[in-house]
Amino acid sequence: MKVSKRAQDVPPSATIAVTARAQQLKAEGIDVVGFGAGAPDFDTPDYIKDSAIKSLKAGQTKYTAAAGIVELRTAIAEKLRKENGLEYTPDQVIVTIGGKHSVYEAMQAVLDPGDEVILPTPYWVTYPETVKLACATSKIVQTDKANDYKITPQQLEEAINENTAMLLINSPNNPGGFTYTPAELAGLAKVLEGTKVMVLSDEIYEKLIYGDTKFVSFASLSEDAFNRTLTLNGLSKAFSMTGWRLGYTAGPLEVIKAMGRLQSHMTSNPVTFGQYAAITALKEPTDSVEMMRAEFERRGKYMAERLNSIDGIICSESTGAFYCFPDVSSHYGRNIGGAIITGSMDFAKALLEQATVALVPGLPFGCDNNVRLSFACSMEQITKGLDRIEKWLSQ
Ligand code: PMP
Repeated sequence: MKVSKRAQDVPPSATIAVTARAQQLKAEGIDVVGFGAGAPDFDTPDYIKDSAIKSLKAGQTKYTAAAGIVELRTAIAEKLRKENGLEYTPDQVIVTIGGKHSVYEAMQAVLDPGDEVILPTPYWVTYPETVKLACATSKIVQTDKANDYKITPQQLEEAINENTAMLLINSPNNPGGFTYTPAELAGLAKVLEGTKVMVLSDEIYEKLIYGDTKFVSFASLSEDAFNRTLTLNGLSKAFSMTGWRLGYTAGPLEVIKAMGRLQSHMTSNPVTFGQYAAITALKEPTDSVEMMRAEFERRGKYMAERLNSIDGIICSESTGAFYCFPDVSSHYGRNIGGAIITGSMDFAKALLEQATVALVPGLPFGCDNNVRLSFACSMEQITKGLDRIEKWLSQ
């Protein structure tokens, strides 16, 4: 059977092995604590569900404009104006089948063979694969723990060459759980001035920030930043709507139009009644987002404290998203329960087999010294899982 070279080149997700094994153990009745989740553990708020039901009953069940209904694109433009200080027209907004689809389409719309995309580590696993599918190359920039895993202006400057077409910034960050400060982003924006580098700013975790963290959209930093940035966001994380598949991108008209042309042949519009419910989600004031945020903050604090109290684990408190990304490398080289731990893949595998805790190795995110633990699960699970990790490492 023929499979294209392009498809062959996309590896199965390196995290799937651990997830599949965790599911297998669970199916065998074993009590596995899962720290792998990439989705909020809360249900979608009722007022959003009710809006989708109303839309269905009203017969909003047919195709819409491929880029999304104008009412939703207007609501998104309004949100970006009010909350992010960005002035986009509805034409400069496209609604996609989740934020992931926005990443794919943005790369397809902007990149050509030979182009380079600067990807600071740690990066979301989907980025390098979507770069590859656009026949471009990832320029991985290894960041430093001392700088909280954030790319510095100097590192950015050194990474840029005549082939650089795009910089990917993801703040708050998956898997890192960190958020760039406005000053840090401004430092990066300055380096880009006078270059032709576009920015894909993945802001999907915007609403999940903690402590005195300030969120700022990259495009709002200056006129120059605005003109070179694609602002990517979605409803999955903020409104606990991962299954609804609703994301969006706003940016320069030519790029958004190109994404729209691609979308008109690839998928057509996002689910129609979902789009109407998205308007409700964006427009109606609600305290459910704040409730989720506050609960994540409480859990993240506790998780970081507990991880730091374990011998040989170093973990910054999360300032955003719902992940802790501790450095566990001081345990590499050890024999734990008969397993030699050489890196994050071994660490995750042995922890799952021996202590029935599932977490995600850092290697596929470009940081083999680290592992990712999601705190999108109950406090009770977090406590139980951390007790197990502590006991496992202390043997
Ligand atoms: N960007 C990042 C950094 C993510 O972690 C995710 C979800 N895991 C997405 C984008 C896409 O989310 P969705 O497709 O559900 O909107």
